[in-house]
Amino acid sequence: MVKEGLTCVFCGREKKSVNLFITNSSNIAICQYCIEHSYNIIYKNKKFGSLNINNNKNSDSEKINIIKKPKDIKSFIDDYVVGQENTKINLSIAVYNHYKKINLLNNNIDNKLNSNVDFDKSNILMIGSTGTGKTLLAKSISKCLNVPFIIADATSLTESGYVGDDVENILSRLFQAANYSIKRTEIGIVFIDEVDKIARKSGNPSITRDVSGEGVQQALLKILEGSIVHVLPDGGRRHPEQKTVAINTKNILFICAGSFEGIEKIVSNRLNVSNIGFVQSGGNNSKQNKDKFNILDFISPNDLRLFGLIPEFIGRLPIITYLEDLNKEDLKKIMLEPKNSIIEQYKKIFELDGIKINVTNDAIDFIAEKVIDLNLGARGLRSVCEEIFREDMYTLKASDNFILFDKETVKNKILNSRFYI
Ligand code: ADP
Repeated sequence: MVKEGLTCVFCGREKKSVNLFITNSSNIAICQYCIEHSYNIIYKNKKFGSLNINNNKNSDSEKINIIKKPKDIKSFIDDYVVGQENTKINLSIAVYNHYKKINLLNNNIDNKLNSNVDFDKSNILMIGSTGTGKTLLAKSISKCLNVPFIIADATSLTESGYVGDDVENILSRLFQAANYSIKRTEIGIVFIDEVDKIARKSGNPSITRDVSGEGVQQALLKILEGSIVHVLPDGGRRHPEQKTVAINTKNILFICAGSFEGIEKIVSNRLNVSNIGFVQSGGNNSKQNKDKFNILDFISPNDLRLFGLIPEFIGRLPIITYLEDLNKEDLKKIMLEPKNSIIEQYKKIFELDGIKINVTNDAIDFIAEKVIDLNLGARGLRSVCEEIFREDMYTLKASDNFILFDKETVKNKILNSRFYI
């Protein structure tokens, strides 16, 4: 019962001048006009992208940073990932569009859009040599958007019923990463690495793995496309009496990745050009290769089919992007520039024992050259650096609490190690 004489706390209107007047138990009241006005403010904000993807307005962890536009997403990942400009732009656009569509469909916020429009999902395929930053890119994007993220390895997956990881387990793991929230799971990102290793043997004679890969591709189709999958909350094997949760995969973004070694031959055959002069993704000898355009620019779904991916699987990965191999300059930047860069990490480790270290520029140069020789992309950096700092991290001996890592020191450590090439 609304008390007589009450006025709206926002505009001061009296109850008798409006049709709807809402009060709380302390007799604080708001009128219909102010409710409408507030709704419009919220509605407008949604239009500009700052909104909660589900209805649980209380939980911060349920929010997705849709407010980030492609340029913002790119500039976020710039802090973590060196180079790969094209891929960063492609991914930023794809990811922004993906979550924008979810927002529109979930909230029906744009009247101009016909609500019957159903958007196709744009899963992504990243092609690039090992250690070029594929995983790091996907991870950085999930961090930027604050959505659950997991990494799966295609080579460990099996078709349902075989020994190994069921494809459904991917969703169980995502559900766990989403803190057992179905809503959060359904907007997560799944990164599936090594999809080139599940290529069908017949499609590519140079791949020695057996045909079981095709079965895994078939199994993946189900989750790549939008479908309701019943998964075990804690993964593991299915028992008849076990409870399952239904996860709709429609809005889960799948980013698949692989090195696709040898695919440039397929592309160059199709284009009827020699691939001498082209090197897959820029090559380590980058100066020479950067001057030449990259044959992977011309990769087509048919090339992927010849490589051994089945057409249905390719069809579910409409966005294809490739990563350049990292050159010496990139490796130097990776050592020094990103947030929490590798050299920064070692500095902190020593600092905890009161020791300052200085790694000189020519030492950094030398390390980058060695890593190029190893041909492991930036993955080689960690192993080489571990070798260089290992002894001092063990002895923790420093004169005047200071250790200098100059080129000579670093060179000697490498010469006496398994990394001497
Ligand atoms: P990939 O998935 O392509 O094999 P990762 O993303 O796992 O490679 O990279 C391995 C490690 O190398 C990462 O943890 C990161 O430290 C470093 N790294 C690789 N590429 C880059 C890059 N472009 N920028 C910054 N760091 C990189």
